Amino acid sequence: MPSNARAGSLKDPEVAELFFKDDPEKLFVDLREIGHGSFGAVYFARDIRNNEVVAIKKMSYSGKQSNEKWQDIIKEVKFLQKLRHPNTIEYKGCYLREHTAWLVMEYCLGSASDLLEVHKKPLQEVEIAAITHGALQGLAYLHSHNMIHRDVKAGNILLTEPGQVKLGDFGSASIIAPANSFVGTPYWMAPEVILAMDEGQYDGKVDVWSLGITCIELAERKPPLFNMNAMSALYHIAQNDSPLLQSSHWSEYFRNFVDSCLQKIPQDRPTSDVLLKHRFLLRERPQTVIMDLIQRTKDAVRELDNLQYRKMKKILFQEAQNGPNAEAPEEEEEVEQFLHRTGTINSMESSHSVPSMSISASSQSSSVNSLADASDDDDGAEIAMMQEGEHTVTSNSSVIHRLPGHDNLYDDPYQPEMEPQSSSSAARRRAYCRNRDHFATIRTASLVTRQIQEHEQDSALRDQMSGYKRMRRQHQKQLLALENKLRAELDEHQLRLDKELEAHRNNFSCRGRETGQEASGYL
Ligand code: ADP
Ligand code: MG
Repeated sequence: MPSNARAGSLKDPEVAELFFKDDPEKLFVDLREIGHGSFGAVYFARDIRNNEVVAIKKMSYSGKQSNEKWQDIIKEVKFLQKLRHPNTIEYKGCYLREHTAWLVMEYCLGSASDLLEVHKKPLQEVEIAAITHGALQGLAYLHSHNMIHRDVKAGNILLTEPGQVKLGDFGSASIIAPANSFVGTPYWMAPEVILAMDEGQYDGKVDVWSLGITCIELAERKPPLFNMNAMSALYHIAQNDSPLLQSSHWSEYFRNFVDSCLQKIPQDRPTSDVLLKHRFLLRERPQTVIMDLIQRTKDAVRELDNLQYRKMKKILFQEAQNGPNAEAPEEEEEVEQFLHRTGTINSMESSHSVPSMSISASSQSSSVNSLADASDDDDGAEIAMMQEGEHTVTSNSSVIHRLPGHDNLYDDPYQPEMEPQSSSSAARRRAYCRNRDHFATIRTASLVTRQIQEHEQDSALRDQMSGYKRMRRQHQKQLLALENKLRAELDEHQLRLDKELEAHRNNFSCRGRETGQEASGYL
């Protein structure tokens, strides 16, 4: 594929065959936003042909840098198309509509990071072992095909209803190893990725490092150095000793596993294949570990969503009665109490997640490394912020997700036809849920809403930044024009002055001569 192919161009048959020709709007229904990234949003949906539940990642290639976005889409689709393993997300096809690619995949309940977000406490060691085992099997498969994931972290390890672990998000993946580009999410990046310059090359072992960091993330809720800014963290990872598990209560097996993953020198670090034989993973554990964890998480999500729902309802009710500044103290307390009961240390407000950032900047010397890393990356740098969507109210471990921009769920209970005065709160909720599709998830409504807001704030910030940059460019242009004008005026003045001076000199010398002649005449 020529790297300069225009966005949306299907002239190249190799590109054209990546996409189904059908109109996705006609095939997929009940779309509910469940995740959000800088590329667009991820939706829950149902395929009308077989009633199958799917996830759809909508990736727009309109607007700025549309050609680059188009290349990213082609890269991700090509990658997903190749994958066939129980521990990698199943790809179902891609469709195009209105400058947006609809990337259809199997539906997952959420990610390992959502587990941390819901419970607000570390996972248990057996749970970490089960998740790590699944992810490592997926990685070993990728590595055996010379592919590298390059963005391994809890947020990209997805879980399915029957308790399978799936690697997701192949937006940063490399189709060939070794590779040499600076790609990934800072805190999870291996030292050799950070140090990879013109001559630097790395392989699948970078994923092993990131998996070690992910183990710490699952054990401590955040990866090491998360309190630092990304740039300082990168410097720290490259320069300092590897991180360790903080608490001493973890088993020797677990510590040793993390220690092996986090060997700074790639040659000392085991391959994914070798690590699969580690005792931490092979130790016996109940088969239902992940299923139990999922059930626990769904229950917590249902509770949290119901509390949040009641809280919002009360706030809206009080607002309607007393004006916008009214508060709902008891409901606030109720949410706090629930979070404490479930082991939450922070309040809902203080636990806002920092949006995950993927930096994808291509090698500085594509000419030197173009052979080694040919289909690896595109030029330019990209900062992608992961965000999420809008939804609410649960019933039987299911959450009803709503499309943002559509009727607000929290408004509805106050519409007369939805809200008969006599009904109890539960009945009201049931009435409200009537005719809505339910689907299983381990993401709370507030998480999805918050991530959408963060995304909006982020876009607002990006807009502000680009507005600022535009203004700066304009000012610079004006300044330059003014400078040129002044310089021209200065030159003109200078020229005039020079001429005047010349004229004066001439005058003076003429008069001098005349005076001299006059004087000599007297003599
Ligand atoms: P990004 O590049 O923004 O990280 P991802 O592919 O990781 O994009 O998707 C963003 C989020 O969408 C994920 O963290 C996850 O919550 C959700 N998501 C992605 N794929 C699926 C899927 N197949 N099933 C369910 N949720 C998904
Ligand atoms: Mg992701």
